[in-house]
Amino acid sequence: MEIRDRIVVIEDDSSILNLLKTLLKANNYDVLVTASGAEALTIISSHCPDLVILDLGLPDMDGTGLLRSLREWSSIPVIVLSARAHEKDKVEALDLGADDYITKPFGTSELLARIRSALRHRRTAMDAGLAMQNGVLHIGSLTIDYNKHRVLKNDRDVGLTQTEFRLVALLGRYAGRVITYDMILREIWGPNLKNDNRILRVNMANIRRKIENHPAEPEFIFTEAGVGYFLREPD
Ligand code: CA
Repeated sequence: MEIRDRIVVIEDDSSILNLLKTLLKANNYDVLVTASGAEALTIISSHCPDLVILDLGLPDMDGTGLLRSLREWSSIPVIVLSARAHEKDKVEALDLGADDYITKPFGTSELLARIRSALRHRRTAMDAGLAMQNGVLHIGSLTIDYNKHRVLKNDRDVGLTQTEFRLVALLGRYAGRVITYDMILREIWGPNLKNDNRILRVNMANIRRKIENHPAEPEFIFTEAGVGYFLREPD
């Protein structure tokens, strides 16, 4: 028997809700829907879904508040689906732990592709967690060795500084997912350097020079303009 992925849709616009319900069922997903943020948290904790699609403007709470509560106890993939199109809304949602952000109006085939991608990242993250148990992550010709604190390219140490290694190690832990500039700065340099992206850009340029064949056309670390960076998924 086929095991279907279960998706919770949190949306108060009934026409969008019906569209999503029909679309997702037609694509073999189990679908649970609600227009209430409070009810959504109950559904998620009791039905163990595989993915959440979240509208930000909900009648009983703001979707960002829901995301914040959810992230206190769950790492389930969340795709935000919102009419808010500003870069700062996208950054805020990603900072709070959303996995992806889609602006309304959206194309259904794009949404389905992002859902498949988020589900795949989740599996990859689980696999990466397993790979991490022996402390090594392989991404093509790149190897991140968490025990020896070094990064190898074609089995040769690329000679990262300690800070550069911590940066690559952080991206590796979330491989395939965009990590915002703020999250990286906070994690690597602490809260005081907030909003100083220059030091991050300098370090990233040095890392790319050491690990990429063509730093201007990266194969490993990618830039999401105005938002952050992500590392390619592990093999
Ligand atoms: Ca809404």
